[in-house]
Amino acid sequence: MHGAPPRGGGASLLYGRPQAPRTLPIFRGRRHAGARRTLYNPGGNLQHAKVTVLSESPTSIGAAAPIAAETVIIGAGPCGLFQVFELGLLGISAHVVDSLQHPGGQCAELYPDKPIYDIPALPVCGAQELVDRLLQQIKPFKPQLHLGHEVVEFARRADGRFHLATAGGISFDAGAVVIAAGLGSFQPRRIGIAGAEPWEGNAIQYRIKNAAELAGQRLVIFGGGDSALDWTLELLSKAASVTLVHRRREFRAAPASVARMREQLAAGRMRCFEALPHSLIVEDGALRGVNIKSPDGAIEALPADRLLVFFGLHPKLGPIAEWGLALEKRALQVDTEKFQTSLPGVFAVGDINTYPGKKKLILSGFHEAALAAFAVQHHLYPQKKQFLQYTTTSPVMHQRLGVPD
Ligand code: FAD
Repeated sequence: MHGAPPRGGGASLLYGRPQAPRTLPIFRGRRHAGARRTLYNPGGNLQHAKVTVLSESPTSIGAAAPIAAETVIIGAGPCGLFQVFELGLLGISAHVVDSLQHPGGQCAELYPDKPIYDIPALPVCGAQELVDRLLQQIKPFKPQLHLGHEVVEFARRADGRFHLATAGGISFDAGAVVIAAGLGSFQPRRIGIAGAEPWEGNAIQYRIKNAAELAGQRLVIFGGGDSALDWTLELLSKAASVTLVHRRREFRAAPASVARMREQLAAGRMRCFEALPHSLIVEDGALRGVNIKSPDGAIEALPADRLLVFFGLHPKLGPIAEWGLALEKRALQVDTEKFQTSLPGVFAVGDINTYPGKKKLILSGFHEAALAAFAVQHHLYPQKKQFLQYTTTSPVMHQRLGVPD
């Protein structure tokens, strides 16, 4: 099935002939069990930042004025999303910020197609399906989702409110903060070869901000998952050349994408190697290519203008650890009445928190979100009398949910 190796016995070339441009469709949503239509426009377009269709107005990057928010939730994983719901039932609005380009946290990023069996009343539920259901459930509350934004700044203001800012330049003036940051902010796995750092963000890219910039360039794409395959197929018609490098012969990407890629290989429109990145080729202060190393140790030099690296993402606690909140084993300490951190007005739910008996389960995070919502309400409106209402019978909750009485 595989083509002849290159002359001189380099890294194993799966196929390699001159390329001819051809327009190919690209998958623009995240796949998941059942491939249901999603309620939002997740990951595929890989823009630097965006707001989902759940929100009413777009995020203004670099906006001078901070966004005034009743609550800011850091993290759009299952617990952050359910926090929107619990706050919404109490009439409290939320902005949700996530460094990923799509909502769903670990469920969407790490195991979208896997079934979950311990969500109450759902004997089995796909992880991405759970995210889709949560997005549908919070729709009546019109949360504003700021995706592709890592929260990097946090401070308590003199007036008791909170300043938050993202690396992308959005800032918030929030009455309360719920940290639902899970295992941390997902960061791209880096290429892992010496001397790469100065090139990262320009000649070496982990996410594509502007595909038009890549037109006419010689591209080497690393990875074997959906991102690597989707971008390979998308860029074939635009780039001067595309070479895909993956450490194994088997690809993790959707079978349809792999089949389409193999068609392109067979037609000689691209090349593909089974190899790892080895070292950069730099001449006259410019990146000219990359050496790759095949499983048998052979080194092959690939000329390139850009290296696109899609080795997946891994979570990093990152800036949250430096905000002065009490930590235990890299988790935020909370009480079990309010799920409040060591700073009043700042709450933490889901995998990011710790307390005696803590279990990192979605179910636990949902319970925490329900109690934290009441605590947020009390923090924002201490005079307000609190009482428990049932969604079954409460007219005010029906109004908030948009259901007829
Ligand atoms: P996460 O899902 O981790 O989401 C946190 C979000 O916060 C992320 O999207 C991250 O990008 C964002 N974030 C973090 N820091 C920042 C920042 N500074 N700025 C912006 N955004 C930030 N649990 C179960 O109950 N049942 C199961 O069957 C189950 N199966 C699992 C299978 C696997 C393979 C894995 C890995 C986990 C499984 N879990 C299961 C655990 C479950 O996925 C987690 O408990 C759950 O995802 C925690 O949700 P969360 O919202 O707290 O955090």
